[in-house]
Amino acid sequence: MDTSTLDPGATASLVQMLSGIVGDDHVLDRDAAAKVHTGDMSWLTISAAAIGKPLSRPDALVFPSTTEEVSEIVLLANRLGVPVTPFGGGSGVQGAANADRGGIVVSLKRLNKVRTVDRESMTAVVEAGHVIRELEAGFNADGLSFTHYPASAEWATLGGCIAARGSGVLSTKYGKIEEHILSVEVVLPTGDIVHTPAVPRHAAGPELTQLFVGAEGVLGIVTAATVALRQVPATRIFRCLLFDDLDAGIAAGREIMVDGLRPPVMRLYDKAAATGSLERAVECGIDRAAMVLMFDGDVDSVVQAEAAAGIEKCLKHGGIDHGSEAGEIWWKRRYDFYYPPHAPELPQIWATMDVVADFAHIRGVYDAVTEAMMGAIDPKWNMTLKTHFSHWYPWGSMIYPRFGVPKGPDDRDEALGLHDAIVKAATEAALESGAVINDHHGVGMRLNDYLGDQLGEGGMVMLQGIKTGLDPNGILCPGKLGLDVASA
Ligand SMILES: Cc1cc2nc3c(=O)[nH]c(=O)nc-3n(C[C@H](O)[C@H](O)[C@H](O)COP(=O)(O)OP(=O)(O)OC[C@H]3O[C@@H](n4cnc5c(N)ncnc54)[C@H](O)[C@@H]3O)c2cc1C
Repeated sequence: MDTSTLDPGATASLVQMLSGIVGDDHVLDRDAAAKVHTGDMSWLTISAAAIGKPLSRPDALVFPSTTEEVSEIVLLANRLGVPVTPFGGGSGVQGAANADRGGIVVSLKRLNKVRTVDRESMTAVVEAGHVIRELEAGFNADGLSFTHYPASAEWATLGGCIAARGSGVLSTKYGKIEEHILSVEVVLPTGDIVHTPAVPRHAAGPELTQLFVGAEGVLGIVTAATVALRQVPATRIFRCLLFDDLDAGIAAGREIMVDGLRPPVMRLYDKAAATGSLERAVECGIDRAAMVLMFDGDVDSVVQAEAAAGIEKCLKHGGIDHGSEAGEIWWKRRYDFYYPPHAPELPQIWATMDVVADFAHIRGVYDAVTEAMMGAIDPKWNMTLKTHFSHWYPWGSMIYPRFGVPKGPDDRDEALGLHDAIVKAATEAALESGAVINDHHGVGMRLNDYLGDQLGEGGMVMLQGIKTGLDPNGILCPGKLGLDVASA
C-alpha cells in the first residue's frame, strides 16, 4: 500500500525545499524515512509494518529544531497542499501519529530543551519533543518533579502527552496532563505562532490552552508548554491490599476518593490482572484481586495520617493487608511491565481499552466490557483479559482492560479481523453501559469511528467548525478525529 501523496519528482522538490528550512542533515526522503519510521506502537501499526505494508508512509520526514522552522514547514505545506503529521515519540497506541495520507511527518525530537525554570513560581517552559523520562530525571536532580509518569515515559514526549490527553501513574493525586499544563506555544495550521497565557488560572475568555490538549495534532503543532512543577516528595508510603471480591475493592477506592484522600497511586487489579500480571512482576504471593496504594508528600505526619486513613478504609471494606513490599517492588519495576519478557510481541495480538465511567456505572461497565470481549472471539484462541482500575477521580475511575491472544493467525487480515472484533465488542459494550472510551490514550485510527457517538452530532459540528476555522486548507492530520476540510 502506497499512501504517499506525491510523485517522485514532487517528493524530490519537497525534500529540497524542506532542506532549505532545516538543513540537508535533518530531512529524509520517502525511502530513507521508511527505514526509520513505520508509525506508532499500536498493534495495528506494528502488525502492518511487519508484512511490509506500513500504515505510516510519509513523503518526507523532517526534524526542525526551532518553533520558527516548524512554522515555515507548515507554511510550505499550505503552499503545496501537502498533509502534515506531527510526531513525538511514536509511543501512541491508537495509530494517531501515522501519516496514513502521506505528506510530511514533522518529528519534534530536536525541539527538546528546557527553556526556563522558575523555582519561585514552580513552573518551567519545556519544548514539546522532550522525552518524559529524561525530563523528569533532569528535574529530579534539582529536587523538582513534573509528576507526569506515563508507563511509556521512555519514549513519550511532552507534546505527544499533551496531544493525546495522556495520564500517568500518579494521576489520582496530581491529575492528567491537562492539569500539568499552564500554557502552550503552538504553531497553528496556517503557520501562525500563538502563546496562550501562562498563569495558574484565568477568566480571560475560554481556556485556549485546553483546545490543543487531546487535539491529536489536528488543530496545531505544540512546540513548547509551560508546565507545573512540584518538589520531589520527602515521604512515600506503599501498601498492598488483597480483596476476595472486586466490588469491595471498588467500594474502598470510591470511599477514598469521595472522602478527599488523594493517593498518587491507587491501582486496583482484578484477579486475572493481579495474578497474571502484577504477581509476575512483583513475586509477592498475590493470589486474588489486589490494590497497590501509594501516598506521598513533604510533611511526613500528613502523609502518615493520610495513608493510615486510606488503609483503614480498605480494611473496612474487607481488604486484607498484604504489607508494603509488593507496592515498593511495583514502584521500582513499574516500567519493566513494558519490556520483554512482559511486553507482547508478534504473532500475539494485543490492545488495551482505556475506558472511563462514573461510580454509578463503573461495575456495570466492567461486567459488560468483560463479557463482550470474552465473547467476541472463538475460545480456541485462548484470549487472556486482564483489567485494572488505575486513574481515579472523585466521581469515578478509569477501567483498563488489556487483552492478549497468545498466537494469532499467520494471515494478517485474519488477525486484524480478530483484533477488530474484540475492540468493536469492547467499545460498543462500554458505550452502551455508560462509559467514555478514551480516558488517556486518545482516539487515533483505532477509535475514530466512535468519536461522534461520544461527542454527539452537535459536538462534532463544533469540532469541525474549529478545525475549518483554524485549518482552512485541511493541512494538519487530515481525517484524524473524523475531521476533513473540503478544500483539502
Ligand atoms: C507500553 C506503553 C505504555 C503506555 N502507557 C501510557 C500511560 O501510562 N499513559 C498514557 O497516557 N499513555 C500511555 N501510552 C500511550 C502513549 O505513550 C501516549 O499516548 C503518549 O502520550 C504518546 O506520546 P508520543 O510522544 O509518543 O506521541 P506520538 O505517538 O508520537 O503521537 C501521538 C499523537 O500526538 C500527536 N503529536 C505528537 N506530538 C505533537 C505535538 N508536538 N503537537 C501536536 N500533536 C502532536 C501525533 O500526531 C499523534 O496524533 C503507552 C504506550 C505504550 C506503548
